[in-house]
Amino acid sequence: MDLRYSDEDRAFRARAREWLAANVPKEPRPATGHAASQFDRDWQKKLFEGGWAGVAWPKEYGGLGLSGLQQVIWYEELSRVHAPAQHVSTTYVAQMHAGPTLIARGTEEQKAFHLRRILSGESLWCQGFSEPGAGSDLAALRTSGRVEGDEIVVNGAKMWTTDAMHADFMELLIRTDPDSKRHKGLTWLAFDMTTPGIEIKPIRTMLMDEHVNTVFFDEVRVPISAVVGEINQGWSTAMATLSFERGLGFIADQLELFEKVGRAIELAKETKGPDGRPVLEDVEVARKLAAIKAETLAIRAMTLADITETDRTGMPGPKGSMMKLKVTATHKALIKLVSDILGWQFFEFDGDRDNNPWTHDFLWSWVFSIAGGSNEIQREITADRVLELPRSR
Ligand SMILES: Cc1cc2nc3c(=O)[nH]c(=O)nc-3n(C[C@H](O)[C@H](O)[C@H](O)COP(=O)(O)OP(=O)(O)OC[C@H]3O[C@@H](n4cnc5c(N)ncnc54)[C@H](O)[C@@H]3O)c2cc1C
Repeated sequence: MDLRYSDEDRAFRARAREWLAANVPKEPRPATGHAASQFDRDWQKKLFEGGWAGVAWPKEYGGLGLSGLQQVIWYEELSRVHAPAQHVSTTYVAQMHAGPTLIARGTEEQKAFHLRRILSGESLWCQGFSEPGAGSDLAALRTSGRVEGDEIVVNGAKMWTTDAMHADFMELLIRTDPDSKRHKGLTWLAFDMTTPGIEIKPIRTMLMDEHVNTVFFDEVRVPISAVVGEINQGWSTAMATLSFERGLGFIADQLELFEKVGRAIELAKETKGPDGRPVLEDVEVARKLAAIKAETLAIRAMTLADITETDRTGMPGPKGSMMKLKVTATHKALIKLVSDILGWQFFEFDGDRDNNPWTHDFLWSWVFSIAGGSNEIQREITADRVLELPRSR
């Protein structure tokens, strides 16, 4: 494996850096509400018009047709200039997994309708997979779809749907065969959020925000043309979606983690311990920070290896689960160490990330290890599909 950047990669980085220096928004992103989603749409439109949307998407679907490694270079450059971050943007689901799922499994009509809208920021998407009682055990889902002629009539509820209130479309996973069990009989729909019969109710989280929701469906009529993949074969489409989500989907979090490690080292230099000396001079603190930094470098190497493998195979494999696990676990260890460095001040939180960034990150570290599949589930996938260990049951 050759992990050096090619001349082409370096030239791409230089072009990206130059464009971002001139174009990255000067004003901060509004934290919530319509203003935040409008900001995200505008930034995505600017990327599209500037020729920077869909770096690794095929040219025929409006992307740049470049490698996964160049996609990572692009994210690194975005992170370097603190450009609006993909992982907290309302464009996240559309860019990171709905679009890639449509490219992999959609019909040419679906691709023609959706992909340019996604790249230009015209369409925002949300993910309607989890339900009350079907999170880790996604195959237990019960939201039903009754096939009537050329329509599917949907009833049920989805839970924890991030940014449902801003989305134009939903990746909706339902059970279309009432006699089916578990993974069989499911269908993946590109669901139009303006369809009559849905109700969105926000859930207030411990982060004191309301970006996740419950979405109720009452006799909602969806055209069969919205099915992505085959009817009753939605599990396979959903697995493609999750592999994109757990593959490059966490790259922005990973880059943010590298930056936070740097900030934590500075914090340990600036903060005085009970003996009046910088906390960084405490050997135990320095050792833990060094171990965390080494972990982040290992994560980066693993990511680059996985991405070059995906470039060869065309689809991300199960190693994304391992990366997600390592990023979230290292993030948790870092925040725990920062709480030791800061002591009691750490526990102040008024709901504003800017006022108490580390406390916000502490709360976020719990969310981060659950959303997109909990760490226990990522461990199971890693054991089963990456390491191919024998099953215990
Ligand atoms: C902030 C946030 C945003 C989210 N956004 C979305 C979204 O937009 N769309 C969407 O569809 N979903 C979303 N989710 C849902 C997320 O995917 C689920 O919360 C997650 O998969 C866990 O499911 P659950 O909450 O039902 O917990 P459960 O599945 O009930 O799990 C509870 C605990 O049991 C553990 N556990 C469960 N099964 C096993 C097992 N087999 N072995 C070992 N331990 C196990 C879990 O790890 C967890 O610690 C979001 C979640 C959060 C917190």
